[in-house]
Amino acid sequence: MQKEDAMHEQDARFLTDFHEVATIGATPAGGVERQAATDADRQTRDWFAKWASAEGLETRVDAIGNMFACATLVPDAPYIFVGSHLDSQPRGGRFDGAYGVIAALHTVSRLVQAAKKNEFTPTFNVAAVNWFNEEGGRFAPSIMGSSVYAGFFGLDEMHEVTDLEGHSVRGELDRIGYLGNDAPPEAAGYAEVHIEQGRILEREGIDIGVVTGSWYTQKLDIEVIGEQSHTGATAMADRHDALVAASKVVVAVHDVTAEFPAEAVKAARDKIIARAAEIEREHGVTCNIRDFDIRGKHFFTEEGIALSERVLDEQGFSHRQVYTMAGHDSVAMNLRVPSVMMFVPSVDGVSHCEREFTTDKDLVNGVHALTGVVTRMLQGDLADGRRWQAASVQPSMLAQQ
Ligand SMILES: [Zn+2]
Repeated sequence: MQKEDAMHEQDARFLTDFHEVATIGATPAGGVERQAATDADRQTRDWFAKWASAEGLETRVDAIGNMFACATLVPDAPYIFVGSHLDSQPRGGRFDGAYGVIAALHTVSRLVQAAKKNEFTPTFNVAAVNWFNEEGGRFAPSIMGSSVYAGFFGLDEMHEVTDLEGHSVRGELDRIGYLGNDAPPEAAGYAEVHIEQGRILEREGIDIGVVTGSWYTQKLDIEVIGEQSHTGATAMADRHDALVAASKVVVAVHDVTAEFPAEAVKAARDKIIARAAEIEREHGVTCNIRDFDIRGKHFFTEEGIALSERVLDEQGFSHRQVYTMAGHDSVAMNLRVPSVMMFVPSVDGVSHCEREFTTDKDLVNGVHALTGVVTRMLQGDLADGRRWQAASVQPSMLAQQ
């Protein structure tokens, strides 16, 4: 078979797999409902494990439910991880996360074949990763599995996190059969491909975005407490109407964010807290507010960005540098090992929504780009970056600044 035909066949196989996974937890409007540690999440995990085993990869599951499909190419060497997440938002899109995991499995499979044919000489092993609970919709905080792996969140503390019905992470992982006890492999680098979830690439007609950094993130948990009372007998002035007050808090958050550019997140936070205090007084309610999930602004390694751009030039893809507004597993991993993140275009920039869409052509482009970059990482192209990272990053940095 000609090399081009073989490539075409591999791409067709990738698309078949991608569209097959999109049927798990599928919603009528074209999205998926696969929140972390639900039955639908279990089904995608079973799919991952079955696929990996058919490819001869060894699947390991760690105590926070991260799955690693490992290919040992160099005995005793650490691994380059390639991954993303199979869980979704409630009624989320079918591309967010799942695309990156299926692209990772195919990348690993292609690289194992290429190494067998001596097309390149690896100095590292490679593993496709499905990180647990990236979305955080059911169990907060988000980016949970990769942050536990990277040492930023404690395992025991995350096991105790509960959903709104009181089910714990630990209990639910156990229930679906993915409370693992394997030691996770050691990472030497990380690569991820993801849909952009914005519209820069689409607007500019660019194939691939090379992610240079992530924005500062600030979340607030705001609880509005009023008081139940008689609908008729309670005078309007005497009511402590939590719903009205909470609605005003929602509008205040919306209005305040419109006033601030992204750089001024802390000032926006302070203004929201001040506005909530006014709403407390107006409505006689209590607003309990706590800072929750603050993540600093971080940059991907310059070596990784340069490597991606070199590979994209060689492959003939147009590219530009972009920032990620969303959090990703790569942001946690990037603080541990040199990491690379690339985006493919999102139609209309829509995400966390059933009409999220990326074309087959763009999906396939991203797999080629990922395979190209990881081939170089397997040969040690970011090894210097690794030493630089290890020396300069402290675990507390994820939650600082
Ligand atoms: Zn995602």
